[in-house]
Amino acid sequence: MSADCIFCKIVSGTIPSKKIYEDEDVIAFNDINPSAKVHFLIVPKSHIDSLATCELQDQALLGKMLLLAPKLAKEQGLAGFKTLINTGVEGGQEVFHIHLHVLGGGNKMPKSLA
Ligand code: 5GP
Ligand code: ZN
Repeated sequence: MSADCIFCKIVSGTIPSKKIYEDEDVIAFNDINPSAKVHFLIVPKSHIDSLATCELQDQALLGKMLLLAPKLAKEQGLAGFKTLINTGVEGGQEVFHIHLHVLGGGNKMPKSLA
């Protein structure tokens, strides 16, 4: 838990969220400012700043996050989806608690990465 971290506060319930999944290691909730019809975030409960600060000990957790994406996307009614992990300020990361974006729904998603 990091005192000033928005996602740690969502994990602890201090800040409300539209949660779609939770287990002992991770939670998933809808993005407050969605970029697609369906846009949720898969977030570890433990605080890790970013993909760039992950270590070998985080390998299983990262795998779990990635494998949850298709399961939750299917539950949300998505036939296909995009995944995204913004890393560092130059990578577009705004919340420094690692999270996997899952986006889809509506029209075919654009190829653009920007
Ligand atoms: P990043 O740019 O760090 O990859 O993405 C951060 C994401 O978190 C953004 O898409 C933003 O809309 C979302 N976000 C920021 N604050 C909150 C919040 O308080 N609640 C929820 N549900 N999403 C948030
Ligand atoms: Zn945090």
